[in-house]
Amino acid sequence: MPGAEQAAPVVSDTDVAAAVAREAEAMEELLGRLVEAPTTLGNEEPGQRIMAEAFSGLGLEPVDVPMDADALRAHPLAAPFSWPVDGKRNVVATWPAAREGGRSLVLNGHVDVVPPAAESLWTRPPFSATRDGEWLVGLGSGDMKAGLAAIVGAVRGLRRLGLEPLADVQLQSVVEEECGGNGALQCVLAGFRPDGVVIPEPFPGAVTVSQVGVLWFHIDIAGVPGHVGEAGVGVNAIEAAFPVIAELRVLEAELNEDPPAPYDDLPHPINLNVGVIEGGDWPSTVAAECSLSCRLALYPGQAVAGLKARVEAAVARAAAAHPYLAAHPPRVRYDGFAGQGVEVPADAPLVEAMAAAHERASGEAAARIPTTATTDARVFVASGIPAVCYGPWAESIHGVDERVHLPSVVTTAQALALLVRDWCGVTA
Ligand SMILES: [Zn+2]
Repeated sequence: MPGAEQAAPVVSDTDVAAAVAREAEAMEELLGRLVEAPTTLGNEEPGQRIMAEAFSGLGLEPVDVPMDADALRAHPLAAPFSWPVDGKRNVVATWPAAREGGRSLVLNGHVDVVPPAAESLWTRPPFSATRDGEWLVGLGSGDMKAGLAAIVGAVRGLRRLGLEPLADVQLQSVVEEECGGNGALQCVLAGFRPDGVVIPEPFPGAVTVSQVGVLWFHIDIAGVPGHVGEAGVGVNAIEAAFPVIAELRVLEAELNEDPPAPYDDLPHPINLNVGVIEGGDWPSTVAAECSLSCRLALYPGQAVAGLKARVEAAVARAAAAHPYLAAHPPRVRYDGFAGQGVEVPADAPLVEAMAAAHERASGEAAARIPTTATTDARVFVASGIPAVCYGPWAESIHGVDERVHLPSVVTTAQALALLVRDWCGVTA
């Protein structure tokens, strides 16, 4: 039937899949080394050294994109930050186009991890990489060091086949995804604007088309210290935090009342987390200070400023009902995440291409999903660049005994390689 045939790809699905599968051991080795680098906030450099070496090992030239505090603070999409960023770097490497004609692509992953939540509950040290059957256990294994390893495995497989892309493919290993997204933003500020971005965060068999925004806020509550032996002396700042939290839960319930599509299919899309509480000095001293650090989400299309106003109103309501806080209201500070929710059309070419690549790699259909977490895709989409997540199967992310399913890392890498073939085009 003339006109109904498509040109055969330069290289078959089977050949791409086989070439990437041969990288399975190398990917596992790289993943293990990354997991054993404890790349929490401020300690990302050992992980970035490993990634720079991995990019060099592909025959590409790693380039530093240093964090620039002034440039970030001047940018409307930046998250506020009180911690030092001087000397920190993102590492990128460009696989240059052999010739014109394709669509450019960024394959992005974050090297930073959250701190181990409860080290004593782990069955092994969090920053050790342990093979357990088909799983690799370790903090950050799924979120998302396996994704970084998959990016390297995908590109190595294609390069071993002697293929070159028809548009630039930039590999990015970024910092500060877990606290605000400023590492990815710094890469956008570096100037490369691809036609699409894929982030192999652990969304197995699914392409993300919508994600919530996230706001971090911190509430400082001041009380009045005193000796606990005298009844009625002092104002306990820790106990004054209880009604503040209760009002924040009221706000959370309001935000979940009438979710817009596609979040109306989810039971509780907007989650408040009171993640850190600090306060008090001594069991026999009335606590003079208490600080809460919280995370709250917002839907795409809503402004961060609007959510800040509602948080402040909730805190003010709690204070107004408290005999001491009414005259001494808590202070709300913003430090870390302050990013909007974002969406990509479910039929956007990048979504279609990533879903098709997954289907070719796995033989299974790819879902298009909203997520109630946020990722660095937010920074790219908000900058006008289509970005999705798609990646391996992981369990217990930000929890105890985080692990990633190694065969799914290979499938992810195969799908990414097929995406490069079909999105960018390749030449033999
Ligand atoms: Zn992540």
